[in-house]
Amino acid sequence: MSGWLRVAGLGPGDAALVTPEVSAVLAEATDVVGYLPYVARVAERPGLRRHASDNRVELDRARHALELAAEGRRVAVVSSGDPGVFAMASALFEALEAGPGSWAGLDIAVLPGISAMLAAAARLGAPLGHDFCAINLSDNLKPWALVERRLRLAAEADFAMAFYNPRSKSRPHQFARALEILRAACGPERLVSFARAVSSPEERLETVTLSAARPEMADMRTLVIVGNSATRRAGRFVYTPRQAA
Ligand code: SAH
Repeated sequence: MSGWLRVAGLGPGDAALVTPEVSAVLAEATDVVGYLPYVARVAERPGLRRHASDNRVELDRARHALELAAEGRRVAVVSSGDPGVFAMASALFEALEAGPGSWAGLDIAVLPGISAMLAAAARLGAPLGHDFCAINLSDNLKPWALVERRLRLAAEADFAMAFYNPRSKSRPHQFARALEILRAACGPERLVSFARAVSSPEERLETVTLSAARPEMADMRTLVIVGNSATRRAGRFVYTPRQAA
């Protein structure tokens, strides 16, 4: 039987938010490859090999997955949310590009998943209802100065913004700096939502103004959404009108 490779998004956490397409692939796979907590979300069964690795070795992991598929195995590379959003799909193509020419003939497909910003936005109401952008606040793969520049320009363009990887223990000061930049650019009344562990039992949602926002409100399980100048509350919901302010 010939091998294949699928880069699959597992959604934000709840099994009900995994697409039927991804479930079908997980049921047929011989190997699951990914960052440990994501691989752990795939149930064990006879005949399934689970290859879990650390978070910082995406390229090695991608290469390994390609090698397995080239050997004829049926490989699912898993990411949380959507695999194309700050996740494994790009690493896979990077490894493919750098690898042997024979890999070009492999049967490869990317299967979408519900990204954290979409799950968070739905829980909050519709804060991304007009033009918006998504920014990864981690400076692992880009200089912090570029993050600051993008924050300023996105604020100037009046985009709503979704922030991934807002704050980690290894870089606690950067999110405080990001809030400072946003307060200066958007004003103290702008709404900001913190959506933590969306669709899991620990889910927590909180919306405040930028003046009341504190860095401790976010951690690595939080997706942060800053509204545009028209974003407002409607009862317990937050939404952005579809027309420009
Ligand atoms: N590919 C993923 C994102 C990976 S980056 C996706 O499309 O969702 C990891 C970041 O995603 C986390 O730091 C957090 O900001 C966000 N995130 C992932 N799952 C989340 C969840 N259930 N609730 C809130 N934020 C989440």
